[in-house]
Order: sequence, then C-alpha cells, then structure tokens
Amino acid sequence: MSQTPYAFFRSVHDTLEEAGRVIELSSDVAVLLSQPKSEIVVNFPVRMDTGELEMFRGYRTQHNNLLGPYKGGIRYHPDVNTDEIKALASLMTWKCALMDIPFGGAKGAVKCDPTKLSVGERMRITRRFTHQLGTNIGPDHDIPAPDVGTGPAEMAWMMDTYMNTASTAQKNAQRAVVTGKPIACGGSLGRVKATGQGVAYCASEWARENDLKLDGSRAIIQGFGNVGSHAGLLLDSMGVDLVAVGDFGGYLVNAKGIDVRALLAHVKVTGTVAGFGGAERCSREDFFSADAEFLIPAALENQIGEDEARILKARCVVEGANGPVNPDGERALRQRGIDVVPDVLANAGGVTVSYYEWLQNRRSERWTLEEVDSKLEMAVVRAYQRVRDFAQNYGCSKRIAAYGLALKTLSECYGDRGVFP
Ligand code: NAD
Repeated sequence: MSQTPYAFFRSVHDTLEEAGRVIELSSDVAVLLSQPKSEIVVNFPVRMDTGELEMFRGYRTQHNNLLGPYKGGIRYHPDVNTDEIKALASLMTWKCALMDIPFGGAKGAVKCDPTKLSVGERMRITRRFTHQLGTNIGPDHDIPAPDVGTGPAEMAWMMDTYMNTASTAQKNAQRAVVTGKPIACGGSLGRVKATGQGVAYCASEWARENDLKLDGSRAIIQGFGNVGSHAGLLLDSMGVDLVAVGDFGGYLVNAKGIDVRALLAHVKVTGTVAGFGGAERCSREDFFSADAEFLIPAALENQIGEDEARILKARCVVEGANGPVNPDGERALRQRGIDVVPDVLANAGGVTVSYYEWLQNRRSERWTLEEVDSKLEMAVVRAYQRVRDFAQNYGCSKRIAAYGLALKTLSECYGDRGVFP
C-alpha cells in the first residue's frame, strides 16, 4: 500500500465546489472562500540543549473570520507544509460554521519533530514562536489550540508568553488567547477528551441511524494520541471492542478485544502502541482489513486511499483525524457502500469545548464537567442529525451535507453584510 502525494487543499476545495453546486452557492461567496485571508510564515532562532542555535520555521494561516475570531490548532510535525496548513485552516472555517460556533478558521504549525525534543526545547520553541506571531494572535482575533504534537503544556507556554507581552492591567484579559490549556491555567474541564468524545457520539448516532447495536460492535483505531485514545476509552465504555490499533510505531490486532486502559498506560510510558503485550503485532494491511464495524482514523491526513478502502471491512469511517480519506479513497468507499462521518462533524467536539473554554475565560466562570459533557453531547448530536437530514434530502454524502450546511451559514452572513468596499 503506497501513499501517494496528497494535494490536500485542492481536495478540500473540490469538496467545497461540489457542495456549492448542491446549495447553489453564489459565485461571489465561492470566490471569497477560495483562499485564506492571510498566510503568515515566521523564522525564529532557538537555543538547543547542545548550546547551539537552530533556526525553526513556523506558520499561521488565517482562512476566514466572517463568523468570529480565527480559531484552529497548532501542529508540531517534521512534514508540515503550506498546502496542509491551508487545507486544515479551511476545514476549521467549515467546522465552526457547521457547529454554529462564532469562530472562523485558522491553523498553525512549527516544522519540528517533537519526539526528538526535550521539554526545555519544546518550551523555548513554543515561547519564541508565540512571540514572533505577536499581535497576529489574540483572544478577539486568532485563538490557537492543540493539534498533532502539541497539548496543554504548549498552550500554557503560549498563554504565558502572550500574557507577558500585555500591560499589567491588561494581562488577565489575555487568558483566552489559547484554548486547550491546563485546568489550573484556565482550561475547561472536559477539553482534553472532547475531540474523542465527539467521535464516540458520532459513532453512536451512526449506529442508531443504521440499526446497529453499539454494545458488542467493534472498532479499529489508527493513531492513539489525544483523539484516538479518548475515542477508544469512550467507545469502550459504550460496549465497543477495540480489535486493532496502530500508530507511527506499528499496528496491533486482537480479535477478542484490546484492553484500552492497559494500552493507554503502555503508550503513556513508551510513547507508542508498539510492544504492547495484549495484542499481536500485524501489518498495516492486516489492520485495515480487520473485522470491525467502525474505522476511526485519528492520526494524519491521506491515510485511506484506494488500496485501504478496497480491503476495509468496516461499515463506517468516523474521521477523528482531519482529511484522513483522500479523493481516491472516498470514491472507493462510496462504491463499496461504506459510509463516512466527515472530519468537520466527527472531530468538532474539540473546537466546541474550546469555545466553552473561551466563554468561561471571558465570563470568569468555571463550568462543571457535567455541564460541559451535556452541552457537548447536545451540540454533536444536533449537528449529526442536521447533516444526516441534509444528506437524505439532497441525496448526497454526509461530507457534502456538512460542507453544504456550513456554506449556507457563511453565505447568509456574506449576503447580509455584503463585500467591502
Ligand atoms: P496526537 O499527536 O496526540 O496523536 C497523533 C497520533 O497519530 C499518534 O498516536 C501518532 O503515533 C499517530 N501517527 C502519527 N503519524 C502516523 C502514521 N504515519 N501512521 C500511523 N499513525 C501515526 O494528535 P491528535 O491531537 O490526537 O490529532 C490526531 C488527528 O486529529 C489530527 O488529524 C488532528 O488534526 C485531528 N484533530 C485533533 C484535535 C484535538 O483536539 N487534538 C481536534 C480536531 C482534530
């Protein structure tokens, strides 16, 4: 199975055009949404543990802020590139519009391999990157969050660096500059698990829609980081067996079910699922062809092409990751009658609770976990049902339906406001 080069932004744009035809989107709005508003690239020096100075490249792409401040994660990965970040930024615009969250879309990244960095190096990279972004971010302007390779620690450093650039009297008003912070720094209860939780709610809604008994069904999960592990834990609590799993270190299978908690404990120590004793090592092909009802991609984009789609046994792909199915994969899945719950819906739990965190910071409130969980469940289930109904009414895929709903919201707003000047 080879992974072909992926024109990620082109693929998102093609989906946008298809959805635009379905809702008869005006050509003006299509033009307005066709490119990000700004693409920021910064180069910055960081002192490494060896004592040497190294130059790093960071990115922030701001796609659209029609509905509210730009919003989107920060990725630390050696392969990040401008095409990928543009695509991910635009997905955030559709995601927030679909979820009816008053944010726009953005994405950022630093080209680095976080697995090879010490904590001190990650902190210095994060602080210097934040400083270099300067006023390009802000609680009313552009609000970063965690993504692949980053988490609460990076968000705390970003927040602290940004707050220290404000005047003393203004410091506390800047706390909402990032979401996904540690709880003690103003993070929201439930944010860490929120993306995986949204994935689990979508799987549960799909089961309901398709008369599948969730309890006793099986899932395979690619990527066992923030999204994959929390999706695994929550699905496990709903009675879904994890029968295969994989990450950058390799793939594992156990038809009798993998102990998700024990696997998580192993990953916390070793950083990878590889070497876990409760399952057999297997090939990537064996992983994708394992008997299961759900495939949850929760790693990176471009993971499911035609080859993977052809051997897949799952009935439904719930996209925890952004852009995991490429266009050839999507065609093959459609031909085989395998349904896809698209990324902009399936992983929207993260940005939804990020919005709750931002609200709590702005209002100086602290919500209970029960409040966060019940609001999130309502938001995801409502969005799922809107997407399902749109897809049925227009005879289209759930991906086109999700984009169609997002575009309707954006186009109504553009219609009311007009285009400057
Ligand atoms: P993470 O860094 O916590 O985990 C990523 C996982 O993917 C790790 O298990 C890693 O080993 C695995 N992986 C990396 N490269 C791989 C490869 N080539 N093959 C197989 N596995 C590989 O990242 P995350 O935050 O869980 O994000 C995962 C996906 O979910 C990304 O697409 C991200 O954009 C998306 N997402 C994340 C959030 C969030 O709140 N963190 C929100 C929405 C969407």
